[in-house]
Amino acid sequence: MIQVNENYLKIQASYLFTEIAHRVKAFQESNPGAKIIRLGIGDVTEPLAPAVIKAMSAAVREQSKSATFRGYGPEQGYAFLREKISECDFAARGVKVSPAEIFVSDGAKCDTGNFQELFGPRVRIAVPDPVYPVYVDTNVMAGRTGVQKNGRYGGLVYLDSTAENGFVPDPPSKPVDLAYLCFPNNPTGAVATKKQLEKWVDWARREKALILFDAAYEAFIRTPGIPHSIYEIPGARSCAVEFRSFSKTAGFTGTRCGYTVVPEGLKAWTSKGEPVELRQLWMRRQTTKFNGCSYVTQRGAEAVYSKEGAAQTKKTIDFYLENARLVREALSSMGYTVTGGTDSPYLWVDVKGDSWKFFDLLLREAQVVTTPGAGFGRAGEGYIRISAFNSRANVKEAIARLSKVLAR
Ligand SMILES: *Cc1c(COP(=O)(O)O)cnc(C)c1O
Repeated sequence: MIQVNENYLKIQASYLFTEIAHRVKAFQESNPGAKIIRLGIGDVTEPLAPAVIKAMSAAVREQSKSATFRGYGPEQGYAFLREKISECDFAARGVKVSPAEIFVSDGAKCDTGNFQELFGPRVRIAVPDPVYPVYVDTNVMAGRTGVQKNGRYGGLVYLDSTAENGFVPDPPSKPVDLAYLCFPNNPTGAVATKKQLEKWVDWARREKALILFDAAYEAFIRTPGIPHSIYEIPGARSCAVEFRSFSKTAGFTGTRCGYTVVPEGLKAWTSKGEPVELRQLWMRRQTTKFNGCSYVTQRGAEAVYSKEGAAQTKKTIDFYLENARLVREALSSMGYTVTGGTDSPYLWVDVKGDSWKFFDLLLREAQVVTTPGAGFGRAGEGYIRISAFNSRANVKEAIARLSKVLAR
């Protein structure tokens, strides 16, 4: 009799976005004429930059001739891309990350989900609440938690991100070996200052703990002085792994490319206390289970760093940030307290009540889809997330409808 991994059965039955889709579908069916505006799911809407399309087209043509055809590439990613990443994402900010420390992949969801494979079954884990569900669910699947009760898994340390701490929690006071951080944050849109990240790095070094730092929204940071990389903090190379993605940076959600930085010298320990290089372990994991991101896609990602590509992608991000600013101003002027939307495509709105009720109200009265904060964790209750990924016309229409409904 073939047995299942019963850890999978511990995962919350109704996945957040499935429930949202279900409610939206039900509303659309009973209101066939309604023009619904979706400011819910975090997916980009603008096309790839022309420079990216040009580079990918050229790469497709290379694949059409035997002289330039490429089969399996290096598992870590092509050197041409890793060198560009090292130079433009890190050296340009005064941060040392060598191409050998960069692992190109097909996205940050896989990497943030897979990285936990490198650790023992009993490591103690801290996650922020509200949280991007991937960090939690992959550890549940791996059997590192108990069952779920009232939206929380036994064995995990939850770090509440609240208005009181500015949505940037302090390091845990309980013993923890592994902590997930995400800044600019999904879902709250909050960013962490250098001082706040220094606290985390000091904690991790003291505890011989590891920080898994998700910087998928780094390109949205506009406030001067806000760190774009955890490695801007002295000492972070010895206690942090960083995940990046071209998904939100350059519209690659459907094209698929991301990367992970595992610094040389970064260590975890065996049960006997012997140090092990995490870079070697991740290399082993990737070469065993992953065969690389496509050549065509990596040429597209490389073009994001060209002069034209960088200007075009920045323009698109500025466009989303302007959407965010418009929504933020409108809601603020209606008396709502809004976090995010300045260095992030997400706005985290205090709705002063039940988040699913508020979600239903906006769907019913304004035909605007948002994301109820409760879906991201217990501390998300009382908030909704609004995404700025949409056309300007839809954003303006959504604001007009929200104003009518909420100004009453
Ligand atoms: C969108 C997103 C990612 C990126 O996922 P990809 O797999 O690269 O598309 C990573 N982390 C967070 C928090 C995200 O919201």
